[in-house]
Formats: sequence, C-alpha cells, structure tokens
Amino acid sequence: MQTSVVRTFRFEAAHQLPWHTGKCRQLHGHGYRLEVTVTGPLTGVGIVIDFADLAAVVRSSILDVYDHTFLNDLIENPTAEVIVADAWKRLAAAGLAVTRLRLWETEDCFVEITA
Ligand SMILES: [Zn+2]
Repeated sequence: MQTSVVRTFRFEAAHQLPWHTGKCRQLHGHGYRLEVTVTGPLTGVGIVIDFADLAAVVRSSILDVYDHTFLNDLIENPTAEVIVADAWKRLAAAGLAVTRLRLWETEDCFVEITA
C-alpha cells in the first residue's frame, strides 16, 4: 500500500512562445495551478509529509521564483511541459521526494510528470 499526499498551489505568470503559430505566439499570462504529490511510507506519527512542510518547500522553491514573473526570463521556451520539468528539478534539488507533478495551464489542460 502506498500513500500519497497532494497539495495544490497557484501562481500567476506571463510567457510567450515565439515558435507557436497560434495565439500563444503573443505575450500573455496564465493563472497556473501546480499539483504536487509526495508518496511514501507513513512516519511514526502516521503521516507521509506534513502539509505545512510540503507548502514551505513549494513556496520557497517555486512560488517565490515563478509568481508574477515573465517566465521566458527564467526558462528557455516555457511551454507547460518545460515549466513542469523545471519545477520538478527545483523541488528535487530542495530535497522533496516528488512522485507526481501536474501543472494546470488552464482550467481544462494540464501536463504531468511522474517518477
Ligand atoms: Zn500560454
């Protein structure tokens, strides 16, 4: 049996995809939703990870970096797929054992990385 802890976060950011033949070629923004999953055994007190500890890592590693920025300044070619890979690397570097990361670019569309 595996237990997963999932928490979602929001950030607002702009991006531009110059190679795109449609609307994404223009400078525009999204209200992104990041869904972070950590899976593992329960500790002695019966949790995988404290929701507050999870939030602290995501805030310092992702939200403080991405929120209200022009993502092209931080990430080359910031498609949702490339952004979520960058976020995965940042969370892993911060020591968070992420097992699934979903980045919602709109209400209907998300990209996902799994361990
Ligand atoms: Zn976009």
